[in-house]
Amino acid sequence: MSAEQSNIAVNALRLACHCKANSYSFSAATPLDSTFTDVRICQCTDCRLQTGNLASWFVRAPHKPFNPKYVPDTLKAYQVDTSLTHYFCRTCSSQLFRREDPPDGDGEPEFWIFIGCLDLPPDYRFKISHVEGIEEGSDGGLASWLPGVRYHGKNGVTLKDDDIRGLESSEDSAGSSGNAAGDGETEDDQLSDNGEDGAGRLRGECHCSNIELRLSRLADNNEYKPPLIYSDNTDLVIPYWTPQDQQPPIDHENPWWIRKAAPNSEHKRFLGGNCTCTSCRTISGTEVQSWIFVPTNCIHIILPNGESIPWPSRETLINGSDRRVNRIIGVYKSSPGDPGVIRGFCKKCGANIFWDGLTRRNFIDLSAGLFTINGTKQQEWIEWWTERVSYVEDTKGIAREDIGLLVETGIREWRKRSSFV
Ligand SMILES: [Zn+2]
Ligand SMILES: [Zn+2]
Ligand SMILES: [Zn+2]
Ligand SMILES: [Zn+2]
Repeated sequence: MSAEQSNIAVNALRLACHCKANSYSFSAATPLDSTFTDVRICQCTDCRLQTGNLASWFVRAPHKPFNPKYVPDTLKAYQVDTSLTHYFCRTCSSQLFRREDPPDGDGEPEFWIFIGCLDLPPDYRFKISHVEGIEEGSDGGLASWLPGVRYHGKNGVTLKDDDIRGLESSEDSAGSSGNAAGDGETEDDQLSDNGEDGAGRLRGECHCSNIELRLSRLADNNEYKPPLIYSDNTDLVIPYWTPQDQQPPIDHENPWWIRKAAPNSEHKRFLGGNCTCTSCRTISGTEVQSWIFVPTNCIHIILPNGESIPWPSRETLINGSDRRVNRIIGVYKSSPGDPGVIRGFCKKCGANIFWDGLTRRNFIDLSAGLFTINGTKQQEWIEWWTERVSYVEDTKGIAREDIGLLVETGIREWRKRSSFV
């Protein structure tokens, strides 16, 4: 039966990475059937460390986009485990595809599309049909901020909102556990339950471990404040459409990026938040990009040879002048009209690492998913912003409004039921 006979229109759904080096189309009957509307979210540790986000988001590919034996030059394949491969753009790092091989190696692989890069028709309705990997990361992770969706636990058990809240409360009561490392032990040998190294720094890494990071605490001194460190207001806190004369000036004594300590802790925290802007979405391939706002003098990179170096300057990153860094971090100028805007990713596994812009000095956004080796929300280190999802306006009119609103509702409800945020 032809499409005409059945009164079903057949359209091409386009999938393109941010830099447009990779472009695919999938024929789809409209209204779209469950192949495209059933969205699967996975927040397992592999997905978090490989995307740099709190979860990856997929729909099933209706057909193989390419023969896995001949991967297009513009795509890089990264083997997540023996039966799982992710594909991302070599230039801009957009996550595009996931390939799942049958466990016994017999039969056809199954392809999934990272939904963030998919152009959706205006009448599209999201249906989050499946959230998995919830037990990994201990505190409910992104699922805490997606109210009313069904979660799939281990062994196919369906979890409800209350089950997720149970995971959250065990995290809340954990409190500040400090770290257990003694003198003279090397930092890499030590990882306490709260994800800190022997020096009390928060450990982060991408999936392939080529990029290992250490976050130091914000101290109560001027090294972390203007003028050495500077960033304009963030859209997360002061929406971009706020009239200029109503935008608060940066408070040099108490800048917005230094947040109060968690209860029972004396350490100031970083601000964290979620962004649904078009460029974050298309570069990460996921619908929600979670960031931590960090002065660069709090960041060290542990190179693959074990050497610890401070976070490089923007110029060093753009020019690729430090070969040790250039070997592992890919830099992408994500805003052609604004050469100061750059993003970085792991050249080997594609994990999203950072965002930087010209209105800043020694200050970047770091991908929150990298710091989820132990505990997803890291509330001892991060105060999550619960008023707003950054650039939620970008989701309007492109069939993604439901996601922006769902997360905004979710974080506000989470704030109400949490003992602290
Ligand atoms: Zn690209
Ligand atoms: Zn996963
Ligand atoms: Zn990596
Ligand atoms: Zn963004």
